[in-house]
Amino acid sequence: MPETYRPKAKDYPLSRLGQGGIELVRVHCRYCKRTHNYYPEDLIQIFGDVDVDSLMERMKCENGNHGMLDVSAFVPTGPQAVGLRIRRLVAIKVQRIPVWREV
Ligand SMILES: [Zn+2]
Repeated sequence: MPETYRPKAKDYPLSRLGQGGIELVRVHCRYCKRTHNYYPEDLIQIFGDVDVDSLMERMKCENGNHGMLDVSAFVPTGPQAVGLRIRRLVAIKVQRIPVWREV
C-alpha cells in the first residue's frame, strides 16, 4: 500500500527528535509485551516525517493485529542506555500486487 500522507498539524515530527541529542522511538505492544527501539531516521524512510504520536496508528505489531501500539520518544540515559538494542532498517520490500481487468 502506498503511504497515505495526511496533512495535519505536526506536533512533534520525527525529524525533531535527535536535535537535542540522541532521541529514539520506543514502540511497545501491550499484547506481546515486547518493546522495540528505533532510530527516527529509519522511521522517516517508511512513514515520512510524521508526528510521533501518529505512529501509534501507522505502525502495526508484526506478530498480528494487536491493536494500537504504545509509541514514545525517549533519550537513552544511564543504565537504560547500556546494552540497549536498537532495530535498524535493513530493507524496504515493495509488494507487487496484480490488478486484473476483463477486456
Ligand atoms: Zn504484538
